[in-house]
Amino acid sequence: MRYLIDEELIKKKAALPTTFQKGSSLYRLNNVFGLTGYGSASIKTTVRGSQNYRLFFEFDPKGYLVEWGCSCPASKKYKGLCKHTVAALLKLDERQKDDDSGPHSFLLSNSSKKMLMMSWKF
Ligand SMILES: [Zn+2]
Repeated sequence: MRYLIDEELIKKKAALPTTFQKGSSLYRLNNVFGLTGYGSASIKTTVRGSQNYRLFFEFDPKGYLVEWGCSCPASKKYKGLCKHTVAALLKLDERQKDDDSGPHSFLLSNSSKKMLMMSWKF
């Protein structure tokens, strides 16, 4: 499935302006571990902050983010996204962009080349 997220949306949903900056540096320092369930409507991950926090995300069939949670204290205090959630969503955004431009299109073009060569033989 396709997730309707991008940097602008993540920025808008962040609890405070500084939350986005903190989250994006967590992400750049590779503190997001895995994206369990990537491709489905629910994703789980772990983000390392002052300790490891567990996160979950739920998307509706159209790809909108409908629910999320983080086990850190800040996410209970603020309505917006905490920095761990920001970091995890940036990772998800990157993964999705990689899929768009990455191995898939390469494989596709490679196999269509093979098909072409096969059709030339006959
Ligand atoms: Zn958090």
